[in-house]
Amino acid sequence: MPGETRENHPEQQAPEQEKPEDKKAVMTLVCAYCGKVINQNHIEGTKDCMSHGLCRECSEKSIEELDKMSKKIQSKKRGAET
Ligand SMILES: [Zn+2]
Repeated sequence: MPGETRENHPEQQAPEQEKPEDKKAVMTLVCAYCGKVINQNHIEGTKDCMSHGLCRECSEKSIEELDKMSKKIQSKKRGAET
């Protein structure tokens, strides 16, 4: 484009001039099992932080595992009683 100058570009800002009060911190919820990002929330404050949880897939898996385990325990108990 003729006449367009790259100087004084309004979008160009030095990162040092970033105002901390304008920046919203982001809390990222990450699955502790597979590391997938579950959710991101804007929170009060200036520091980003991370929280661990379980995504749907991994929570379903863990429920299945727990179900299998409890069934194993129950069958073991039954075997011990006889
Ligand atoms: Zn997961």
